[in-house]
Amino acid sequence: MEIRLEEAPAAELKRKPDANALGFGRHMADHMFVMAYDREQGWHDPVIKKYANFSLDPAAMVLHYGQAIFEGLKAYRDPEGRLLLFRPTANFERMNSSATRMCMPTIPVDRVMEGLKMLLRLDADWVPANQGASLYIRPTMVATEPALGVRPANQYLFFIITCPVGAYYPEGFNPVKIFVTDKYVRAVPGGVGAAKTAGNYAASIMAAVEAQRAGYTQVLWLDAVERRYVEEVGTMNIFFRIGDEVITPPLTGSILPGITRDSVLQLIKDWGLRVVERRIMIDEVFAAAERGMLKDVFGTGTAAVISPVGALHYQGHDCTVNNGKTGELAQRLFDNLQGIQYGKLPDPHGWVEAL
Ligand SMILES: *Cc1c(COP(=O)(O)O)cnc(C)c1O
Repeated sequence: MEIRLEEAPAAELKRKPDANALGFGRHMADHMFVMAYDREQGWHDPVIKKYANFSLDPAAMVLHYGQAIFEGLKAYRDPEGRLLLFRPTANFERMNSSATRMCMPTIPVDRVMEGLKMLLRLDADWVPANQGASLYIRPTMVATEPALGVRPANQYLFFIITCPVGAYYPEGFNPVKIFVTDKYVRAVPGGVGAAKTAGNYAASIMAAVEAQRAGYTQVLWLDAVERRYVEEVGTMNIFFRIGDEVITPPLTGSILPGITRDSVLQLIKDWGLRVVERRIMIDEVFAAAERGMLKDVFGTGTAAVISPVGALHYQGHDCTVNNGKTGELAQRLFDNLQGIQYGKLPDPHGWVEAL
């Protein structure tokens, strides 16, 4: 299965956006990787071609029944100008877990990795060089078979698009305020919370909009059964440092197994700090804040890497984390992860892959 390369003519290449005003997810690069699937042929016709619209039948099953999964990772430019990827295999393996849960076909990881690297070499100029910026990579799979009726589709499209993104914190950390909802839930036991599937995000929007209206940046989800145990935040996993213990909820099926989460767990262990994966009640978090023991709260995810939380709101009560300032651990993790991702610090776990 050879990957075809259809380079866009030079005259049709886009003008690059201003490197200092990239924002997030607004400017797509020149090319994309596309591969088709059907039951008879399996994955076939992988191609790298000019970024363009798809033609989809209005009966394409993704538009009706939502078989759609995606991933998110980044390419970074190191001080020598080489391109680096952070644990990319973990993303494609997670995509295959999502695919299995959604009754979609798994992707051939080696071939897709080769396609991604070809795509990045072709669009290398799209990887920004300024501090904290990177190229965001969005692998996606959708059901394309035109048919009505709920069942696994027989045809799919896999594609990878990329877009340059600016530094998440151009002026340094700005701890966010979080709204803890007990009105909505994100995922139920036995549901699809552990899959990066489109419907999870559609279902989360109303809670996010209401939280933003009330002056909060993000929603913290509680478990769907008792609505007491912390699960995760928006598109991030969550960590708490209470006294000398670092706590994050365990992967019990209703939260997304973040690659940043896993990397953070490893770094904390490397540093000899006490870290546990256990259920944690929102009441425990508020009680710790009351006793002055809540030293750090932060989210972890590819987009922001580490997102410090300065305040939480739950059932009419507010609590402040570390006086609203970025905790020491959040800062240390951010500096170390970014250092590894940009090839500026040693990479003892072999997380970084150069192109
Ligand atoms: C993608 C995602 C995360 C973070 O995963 P990373 O691999 O660290 O980027 C956490 N929670 C949700 C719901 C997500 O979609």
